[in-house]
Amino acid sequence: MQKDQLFTRRRALLAGAAALGAAGTAGLILADSGEEAARTSVAPVAGPQARQALGPSAFRLQPLTGYGPPRAAPHRLKVRDEPILRVSGTGRRMVLTFDDGPNPLYTPHILDTLAEHGVRAMFFVCGEMAVENKELLARMADEGHVVGNHTWTHPLLTALDRGEIRSEMERTSDVIEDAYGERPQWFRAPYGAWNRAAFQLGADMGMEPMAWTVDTTDWEEPGTSTIVDRVESGAAPGVVVLSHDAGGDRSQTVRAIREWLPYLLDSGYHLTVPRRRPV
Ligand SMILES: [Zn+2]
Repeated sequence: MQKDQLFTRRRALLAGAAALGAAGTAGLILADSGEEAARTSVAPVAGPQARQALGPSAFRLQPLTGYGPPRAAPHRLKVRDEPILRVSGTGRRMVLTFDDGPNPLYTPHILDTLAEHGVRAMFFVCGEMAVENKELLARMADEGHVVGNHTWTHPLLTALDRGEIRSEMERTSDVIEDAYGERPQWFRAPYGAWNRAAFQLGADMGMEPMAWTVDTTDWEEPGTSTIVDRVESGAAPGVVVLSHDAGGDRSQTVRAIREWLPYLLDSGYHLTVPRRRPV
């Protein structure tokens, strides 16, 4: 992959807004590629996010009376009863995800390695980490990464009541919007422990539940080579890889990605981020 496929936040937002504007509902998941997003028209777009992305100068180019496509009606997501485990799409595509951060000790190194290879990834952040490290969310936005919601304090949701789950999720979406520039479209339950309330509340808040296919179990600190092995042996089209950039000493994770990322690229994998596809 070429460096020029690494999107600026603005370009990513424009492409995303155009895709959403054309979509009535969203549901199925497609592993997006830089090439496809780049071909998406940025011309008439609808909705508040599009307006925001275009910025004030573009806004002034709009006719004062306003015509063109009707404002997209807010759509409700289907309430799933299980999370998404892998992504669809053609080709040898995989999605990299990093949970529990951002952490100033480890996340910048992971971002550096991703940038070096021109790869975008997903970061499922915790609100209590995000609020202390907003500049890292801004960097993720600038470098085209996707930020998802991983709750505020990383609790076991199945032990909480509905109001507590809502608070955990809402506060986190609020801080992501503040620091990253838009509300998250993806949610991941801590420990992969989902319940009906989490699925319902996630859908209410416009987030799809995403789990993973291959768990590096890097949080057990099994050694860099073991982590590398798990990713390389688990690689396959559609696979979503789980790693952690916080929650303990993640120096093995940081070292491992420097090995397995070039290996996956050399093996022909296209490492990408998903987007929601109209159905
Ligand atoms: Zn977690």
